[in-house]
Amino acid sequence: MGKLNNVRESLEIARTVRTVLGGDGVTSDFPVMRHMANLESVRTYEGTDEVHTLVIGQALTGHRAFG
Ligand SMILES: Cc1cc2nc3c(=O)[nH]c(=O)nc-3n(C[C@H](O)[C@H](O)[C@H](O)COP(=O)(O)OP(=O)(O)OC[C@H]3O[C@@H](n4cnc5c(N)ncnc54)[C@H](O)[C@@H]3O)c2cc1C
Repeated sequence: MGKLNNVRESLEIARTVRTVLGGDGVTSDFPVMRHMANLESVRTYEGTDEVHTLVIGQALTGHRAFG
């Protein structure tokens, strides 16, 4: 649950920072988008939201919902 949520929160923070910076948030002047791209990689290789959710769901309910 920690692995699932910490990447979600990190991406949310990066999105907020990008918004605060306005136009500067999408240029290369500030490296916010680079952090967002890095975080999307982490979200993939540390386990996607879908797979984390399926694993947690199985642990909580004892039922497998994997397709
Ligand atoms: C930068 C980077 C570094 C990596 N380094 C390594 C490494 O060192 N060693 C290594 O072994 N691998 C590594 N990987 C691979 C990584 O582990 C896989 O990319 C990851 O497990 C996702 O697998 P996939 O890319 O095949 O996507 P898929 O498994 O094809 O997933 C694609 C989409 O389908 C969803 N999905 C998959 N299965 C289900 C399901 N049953 N139900 C619902 N939705 C589902 C996923 O959530 C995702 O959104 C790396 C990947 C990246 C991006």
